[in-house]
Amino acid sequence: MSVSSAKSRQPIRATRSERLLVFGSLLLVIAILSIVAFLLIRERAHAELSAARAANNIVQLIDADVLRNVELYDVSLLGLIAASQREDLKSVSPAIRHLAYFDRATAAPYKGNILLLDNKGDVVADSASVEPRQGNYADREYFQSHVNNPDPGMFISPPFRARSPEQDWRISFSRRVNGPQGEFLGVAEAAMRLSYFDQLFNSLSIGRDSTVNLISKDGTLLAQQPRLAEELVGKNFSNRPNFQRIVKEGNGSFTSMSDRYHDKRLYTFSKVGNLPLIVIVALSSDEVFAAWKRTAVVVSLATIALCVSLLWLTWLLCRELRRRQSAELELAQLAATDPLTGLANRRSLDQALRHEWFRAQRSGLPLSVLMIDVDHFKAFNDRHGHQGGDDALRWVAKVIGTHVRRPADLVARYGGEEFSVILAETDSAGAQQIADNVRAAVEQLPLAEGGMSPITVSIGISTWTTASDISLEQLLFSADKALYQAKESGRNRVVAAD
Ligand code: GH3
Ligand code: MG
Ligand code: MG
Repeated sequence: MSVSSAKSRQPIRATRSERLLVFGSLLLVIAILSIVAFLLIRERAHAELSAARAANNIVQLIDADVLRNVELYDVSLLGLIAASQREDLKSVSPAIRHLAYFDRATAAPYKGNILLLDNKGDVVADSASVEPRQGNYADREYFQSHVNNPDPGMFISPPFRARSPEQDWRISFSRRVNGPQGEFLGVAEAAMRLSYFDQLFNSLSIGRDSTVNLISKDGTLLAQQPRLAEELVGKNFSNRPNFQRIVKEGNGSFTSMSDRYHDKRLYTFSKVGNLPLIVIVALSSDEVFAAWKRTAVVVSLATIALCVSLLWLTWLLCRELRRRQSAELELAQLAATDPLTGLANRRSLDQALRHEWFRAQRSGLPLSVLMIDVDHFKAFNDRHGHQGGDDALRWVAKVIGTHVRRPADLVARYGGEEFSVILAETDSAGAQQIADNVRAAVEQLPLAEGGMSPITVSIGISTWTTASDISLEQLLFSADKALYQAKESGRNRVVAAD
């Protein structure tokens, strides 16, 4: 019956709006997660950038400081060379000559001594004492370099260990002393203790697990603050991939696994002026991202809570929606059915009839209508009471239902003791057949066994065909007329309108 098919169509529409709701909130959750992820990633990049910037500032500071010191060394060397070439100073006392040769700038604790060597490498003047030390430095790289190269420019040596008992790391700055014709007269040399860098680095605060390092161009670690391990200083790192990359790039920064500590580090590095040295600030990733991580955890938890609440609310809303829809469906069913018989009521009959009518117009297939009225029902009521009458109506409704079985057909209670049947795609012969069956079956109802008098129905039939082509009102009217004729001609019979 079409009432039941109308029932089953409605829940599909309900799940569609539910799906829309779920889809919408999922989209919202995805959008929230994407935005938060985007912001966190950007924040992380920002943390890395500002750490690199801070490290770069440290590197630049060290660079500037070292350059200023190198200039001071050079001024001392130039002063020493100029003084050593003055004839008038050769006749003064050694103590005064010593004063003229060496300025006070050489007295700083990290500074090594300044020496003047003759063309054989022997010490002829020594900033440490008026009486120069005994020593020959002809084997030093810088000395050999000056012997062979007439260029009077400053020579910066690779780092070396001092011969003094401390054996600390040093770098030497030296200039060639030229005679009037450019002949080699000797070398002025100043040494810088690399412990100077320890002192410089010490004053910086870069956080624990992070280090400032000074490395020679050939890969020897010369200074480190804070010291990760004592034995590291003096070790060569030239075979380490990170070091190779640093030497290749000269200046810059990158994040990489530490060659030694197996944790991620942010390396920022720069060549120190024109010295064969590189300063590397190695920041521990844990430290760089510590603040970011805390934020990320809080924001992630809050976001997850938000998303879960959103999904939970969506679920609640879906449940409420489903409840309402099933309540509405129930109401609609109630409004469409007759409470006594459970059949379609007059309202749904009108709807279905109009629907089938237009369908028939389109398809051109016949449409039949039965009007069924219980005979002498007033008398039946009088005899068996209203309750008995109701029972009989239910029996009749059931009998009609069993004979009208096609899905497009509809049995309805028209009102009182009258019923209507819509028979879609059924011609008058088919309708006649069904009406006869109904009439006969009602007659056979075993009401007498319950002490009731037998019951009969009269049926009027009207059929729409393309040939007759009557209106819907005419169709109903002629069914009514046929029913009236059936009553007139004795009841308990079927009459088809002509
Ligand atoms: P006819 O053969 O000419 O149709 O005679 P009738 O008595 O059936 O016709 P009438 O229209 O005079 O009476 C119909 C009666 O049906 C009136 C009323 O008492 C009874 N009736 C209508 N609706 C109901 C109902 O819901 N329950 C019961 N028990 N009786 C009803
Ligand atoms: Mg009647
Ligand atoms: Mg009647």
